Amino acid sequence: MRESAKPRGSGRDVSPAPGADRYVALDFANSVVTVAGGHVLDLLDTPQAANRWLTERDLAPAEAGMREQCAAQLRRLREHIRSLIAAVVAGRPAPGSAIEAINEAMTRVSTAAVLRWDSAHGLHRQAAHPTTQIVEHALAVLAADAAELLTGDDAQLLTACGSPPCRRYLLRTHRRRHWCSVRCGDRARAARAYARRAARPGEASPAPVEVQAP
Ligand SMILES: [Zn+2]
Repeated sequence: MRESAKPRGSGRDVSPAPGADRYVALDFANSVVTVAGGHVLDLLDTPQAANRWLTERDLAPAEAGMREQCAAQLRRLREHIRSLIAAVVAGRPAPGSAIEAINEAMTRVSTAAVLRWDSAHGLHRQAAHPTTQIVEHALAVLAADAAELLTGDDAQLLTACGSPPCRRYLLRTHRRRHWCSVRCGDRARAARAYARRAARPGEASPAPVEVQAP
């Protein structure tokens, strides 16, 4: 199990939200982060970054030969998982397209060398490209974990971080937990204190504490 606040190699990571150490799908959903100032940090924004993210979670070897389309597949699955989590958190019906995408990722794993025919080779078997196998395996693991999270007892603990502009989700493992990180908690408390001071005329109203991005 990973240590929750341990910085990872890429130098632009943020600590996992509560529950993300237990559900890689939650960690995955949170791999796009909006930090203070509205700056978006996407840990899957390039094939190299996506490869690193998977390698750090034992879902792919380093240098798996990922291309942009692999990273794009991962980002698409992430959006589907995020939309399902959002639906659960809001108590809304689950979007059918997201359910379909999760099911497809769970079941489309190209481990078999399939049968093909062409005039040059006749009947022959063809294994999927190794990178395709790696990516499809990772997508299947992430999708299955999302299905597990969204249908188990922990689904009722899912909540969105209450500190805008953060977009991360977390498991509310304590009743009083509202934020995904100490940083978000500090920012929310500072904003609240500022709002209180601003509401009381005649008192000094220093600017809210700007919490540093990682
Ligand atoms: Zn947060």
